Amino acid sequence: MQLRAGLRVVRRAPDEVQLGTDSRWAVRVRGLTPEQADRLVRTGDRPLDPWLPASLIDDLATAGVLRPSRRRPPRVPPAAAPDAYAYALTRAADDGTDVLRARARATVAVTGLGRTGLALVSALATAGVGALELADDSPVRPSDVGTGASPAHVGRPRAETAAEVLHALAPHVRLRTPGRAVPDVAVTVSADVADPGTALGLLTAGVPHLPVVLREADALVGPFVQPGAPGLPCLRCLDLHQARADPAWPVVLAQLAHRERPDRTGVPAALATVAAGLAAAEVLTRLDGGTPRTAGGRYEIALPAVEPRVRRWAAHPDCGCAALVP
Ligand SMILES: [Zn+2]
Repeated sequence: MQLRAGLRVVRRAPDEVQLGTDSRWAVRVRGLTPEQADRLVRTGDRPLDPWLPASLIDDLATAGVLRPSRRRPPRVPPAAAPDAYAYALTRAADDGTDVLRARARATVAVTGLGRTGLALVSALATAGVGALELADDSPVRPSDVGTGASPAHVGRPRAETAAEVLHALAPHVRLRTPGRAVPDVAVTVSADVADPGTALGLLTAGVPHLPVVLREADALVGPFVQPGAPGLPCLRCLDLHQARADPAWPVVLAQLAHRERPDRTGVPAALATVAAGLAAAEVLTRLDGGTPRTAGGRYEIALPAVEPRVRRWAAHPDCGCAALVP
């Protein structure tokens, strides 16, 4: 057995060592000889078995800070190594390579490649997602610069710019033509509201999807819609809930869904980065086999604090979205 990759090891006293800094798995080891403490601090990726008592190894294994020794270290793309190490620490039984293998097989479609969408696809690519579909014919605006696009990109098509950025930072990522295959997850990034027609199309096609909506000074991430999941709301469910509270909402929604945001406005840098990071985490959670935090809810992220707040809803009884799943 050996320590999990990425685990910090520090000495607390001559006979005491601390493994890990995160309270979810950090553990203190007491009663060591000075030599054992010194070797544990310097052990790195070497096996522990020859020099630590078996009972102590059992205790460390129970604490979740050990993994089986490998003859060769796993091959992990350097940019994705932080994901492998950190996600391995959050899971009990692997070294992170199984997470990266699943991500490498996945395809994620992203529509809307302004400042937020570009930060999102960059995060997904460096986190090990194997294939991306990029959709956005509109030109790069000056307000898109900052998360991959440079002033030299202004005026060029956003999808073409995103492809160039991804090719430079993650050349292993495959870029697929939108619409040719069914993605594992689709993300729509839009201004003001999410397009109801697009969401309905994804729902009826059975594609898990996540709307990201950028408003005047806040962002909405969610709900993560998992078609067929009983009791969880789709985007239309949320619109029906909102129409109950505000009867004019359908009229407002229809106007906002068909209005272009003026060129001079955009998304503040901190808001774009936080929204993109949360959206990426939701997608990766789904690809890793977990349940996204916004399944049945939505992050609401408002300036100036950009502190995510989660609101939750049930499926709306008048929506009938479960019946739309093929
Ligand atoms: Zn619904």
